[in-house]
Amino acid sequence: MSFNVEEIRAQFPALKQEVNGRPLVYLDSAATTQKPQAVIDAIVHYYQHDNANVHRAAHALSGRATSAFEDSRRVTAEFLGCANPAQIIWVRGVTEAINLVAASWGRSNLAAGDKVLVSAMEHHSDIVPWQLICAERGAEVIPVPVTDDGEIDLQALEALLDEHVKMVAVNHVSNALGTINPVQEIAAKAHAVGALCMVDGAQAIAHWPLDVQQLGCDFYAFSGHKLFGPTGIGVLWGREALLEAMPPFLGGGEMIDRVSFDGTTFNRLPFKFEAGTPNIAGVIGLGAAVRWVQGLDRGSAEEHEQLLLRRCDELAESVRGLRRLGPERNRVGVFSFLLEGTHPEDLGTLLDQQGIAIRTGHHCAQPLMSRFEVPGTARASFSLYNTMDDVEALFAGLAKIQEFFA
Ligand code: PMP
Repeated sequence: MSFNVEEIRAQFPALKQEVNGRPLVYLDSAATTQKPQAVIDAIVHYYQHDNANVHRAAHALSGRATSAFEDSRRVTAEFLGCANPAQIIWVRGVTEAINLVAASWGRSNLAAGDKVLVSAMEHHSDIVPWQLICAERGAEVIPVPVTDDGEIDLQALEALLDEHVKMVAVNHVSNALGTINPVQEIAAKAHAVGALCMVDGAQAIAHWPLDVQQLGCDFYAFSGHKLFGPTGIGVLWGREALLEAMPPFLGGGEMIDRVSFDGTTFNRLPFKFEAGTPNIAGVIGLGAAVRWVQGLDRGSAEEHEQLLLRRCDELAESVRGLRRLGPERNRVGVFSFLLEGTHPEDLGTLLDQQGIAIRTGHHCAQPLMSRFEVPGTARASFSLYNTMDDVEALFAGLAKIQEFFA
């Protein structure tokens, strides 16, 4: 089955607009993806018809809202290859998921002398929560080096692993380089010394189908807004026994069983970790996004995205002074680069004037930028709705900028 990108694009209203008098070329999907009409409709439908709080009232609207809310949990569990929806915890996004695990699991499992390994290509969201909890517990965060090609140095990881390591936290795909990390192998290495492995799936989730059981990790997190869903909603998946043993993260409504001044008991999974009124519209929108993705031919979508990246690489070869960061092959979604004589920030502005949206800067990965001794990069990122014309427009835009500075 061939992949019909025009049919896909037609479902994304935000892509049909002009910016600065030019048709929008959206190359910032690693920051956030655009939303298909199906997701927008699901959110509007909820607010127009079913708006009510979940799990509480005895009335019809609350019943409908609760059933849509829990249905989203079921489809999301299925989407991740997880048989038990109670292992799907709604959070605001990857950032909150990692903070939840660091605070809840970390506070009860880390002690002085323990180590948490994080790769040097992590997003700040997968560094700072571990630094906070390690500082509190007297434990240490140790970076795992990155090779010149922009891959996690597996030999160095091996050398760092010992019985003091309690957690290995890595991203599945680097947001700054696009590197696809061998998380299955990393999880196995972590387990061999008795450590756990948490995977930040922010940049992987939209690109290919995945199965958390097969990956063998202990926690997996993603954000809805990187999967064509709304902002402010995301997922933490964890192994049931670990989640059961972990204390609550936030206290409040929903997460309790019984409250008394003699002692409070907590709700069962997943509600133990879902204090307060949740982002109901967000959950419903995310469920719609998951269903939308499930309706795609994902193999063809993946192939299409790879062709876009290959074309970028081809065109980049003839651009004077262009330096690309990240591995040659083992990469998805991201074309991260520098152009001699032009600051990445200026590149971003000048491309925007031509209707081309990219991201510039350190991409919340300052240790990685230091590793490559660059202040930041320009990053064009791709999703399944991008076309070969988008790639051509990017390189035509760069040529214009080079002419301007010549
Ligand atoms: N990790 C990675 C790899 C990311 O790309 C991002 C988002 N840029 C995050 C974590 C944080 O995601 P969020 O802001 O949705 O919590």
